[in-house]
Amino acid sequence: MTTFLEDIGSLRRTLKAVFSDAGMGEDFVNCHVEWHLFTSWMEHIFTNAIKEFQLLPMDKYLEKFNRDLDYHEIMGLIFKDELLSNVVEILIAQNFKSIETEKFRKDLDKSRRYLSRSLKESQKDRLAEALDNINKALLFAPFPMDGVDHQSKSQLSFCLMTRAHLLRKLGHYNVCEKDLNDSMKYFALGKVNNYEKNIAAELLTLQDLKTPPTEAESVARRLVNLNPVSERIHGAVPYLSLSYEKNKGRIIITQNDIQKGTKLLVEEPFCTWLAPFLYSQYCFRCFNVLDNYFFPCRKCVLVRYCSSACEEESWKSYHSYECQYISFLRFLGAGHFALRCLSVDGLDESISLYRKSLQDKRKEPKLSRSFLNNYQDIFTLMSKDNNSAMLPKLAFLSKFIAHLACSMRLVQDGAVFDLSCLLLKQFGIGYLNSFFITDHGYNQLKLPGTSVDEDTAKEIGMGLYASASLISHSCDPNCEKYFICDKILILSRAPIEKGEEITISYGPNAVVHSYHQRQALLESTHGFKCSCKLCLKHE
Ligand SMILES: [Zn+2]
Ligand SMILES: [Zn+2]
Ligand SMILES: [Zn+2]
Repeated sequence: MTTFLEDIGSLRRTLKAVFSDAGMGEDFVNCHVEWHLFTSWMEHIFTNAIKEFQLLPMDKYLEKFNRDLDYHEIMGLIFKDELLSNVVEILIAQNFKSIETEKFRKDLDKSRRYLSRSLKESQKDRLAEALDNINKALLFAPFPMDGVDHQSKSQLSFCLMTRAHLLRKLGHYNVCEKDLNDSMKYFALGKVNNYEKNIAAELLTLQDLKTPPTEAESVARRLVNLNPVSERIHGAVPYLSLSYEKNKGRIIITQNDIQKGTKLLVEEPFCTWLAPFLYSQYCFRCFNVLDNYFFPCRKCVLVRYCSSACEEESWKSYHSYECQYISFLRFLGAGHFALRCLSVDGLDESISLYRKSLQDKRKEPKLSRSFLNNYQDIFTLMSKDNNSAMLPKLAFLSKFIAHLACSMRLVQDGAVFDLSCLLLKQFGIGYLNSFFITDHGYNQLKLPGTSVDEDTAKEIGMGLYASASLISHSCDPNCEKYFICDKILILSRAPIEKGEEITISYGPNAVVHSYHQRQALLESTHGFKCSCKLCLKHE
């Protein structure tokens, strides 16, 4: 079997061609390619394994998963298949190790080259250039995972030390101190030369110097806010409430008359995924555009933040799980996002939630009047069930990621099966409820609802939002959605009467698409038949 790294180039080209042929512009194609890359590779491997290991062809698996099976039963069939389990084990052994070691050597070399450039610039007193180079050196400095690798330890330590030195010259004392402390943590005694020792000695004398932080939080993101905000629906104005409709499930309605251009919902995401080719351009947590001054993650140095607040938030919610493995995880696209959604409130907590749901299966689900930003509520969102064409591929992928999570020591052996079931469910939830996040280049002068320059729109990642997921589709919606960094904003585009449902478009709308086009599009992207007012009129 070929490895993922061997196939990645040709896979990217194939996917690029597919999306471009479908009429997608350059700024949208790249994000979609990264999102689907790993799933496509899985399909490719699955197809090859059918020949190489005499696995059952996909349609045979499809026959097994008839429509009455739930996630638990489907994964049960997959786990019972010994051949398939062997293939997954081989895949992990081949790919996980090769990606780690091969990348490690290359990155260490790159990091050294940038470090030496930085030192040269610094000697010439060209501090901006020196800082730029040392940031690049840090991006490629390998994180010393096993704790005994002196090469990577001293490289990381020396890079941090050099940057602390530069930041101090530039007057950024608070961040300089942070770098210094980290540098000391990775300091490999006996492995440094005199130059390094001198810098270290000088830096040690600076520990008391402090100035207020200079951070680059997005102003537009801060400006877009709601006050007061509902206690029952995360991020909504207080007069929105939940209601229930037989075919749609939960919907959001208004208790007040609403004027055109009213902010109805401003929500921070439950979880996001930034397209990896943009790691150097956007804040990993809040999707703020980065300028020259940014904070790389102190451990993986692969992702960057706009502020130390973002770095901390990201670490607390999911990055502590994935930091060590980000050089591998970033290739997983949709799989990475699914695993991260389960990590936000803690992987173990999410798994026990799933186990509990199996015990409660027979009981009627209670309809809560509130919907908050936690996995307990996200877990109750509708998921795409038994979409026949995708199911074997996703089940295979779920098993792969669950085993991977186990070899990354994120879960115990005993939890692998339940995690894979939960991943399969999460793929279904994500499929129906997440949005591609678009960067419209908003700033404090140009906010949503004023003017949107569609030409600058660029897809940059994926987001799952608690309350926004409950808003139904309409082909003639009364609201419009916008993204300001990672925040979603729902703005009314027409007056809405008391008691009416809040709607947005999931893609198709009556201005551009005919009735049949709309139905076909929604069937392919979301798997439902639209019964909005306009579509009902047509029938
Ligand atoms: Zn940020
Ligand atoms: Zn990290
Ligand atoms: Zn419709």
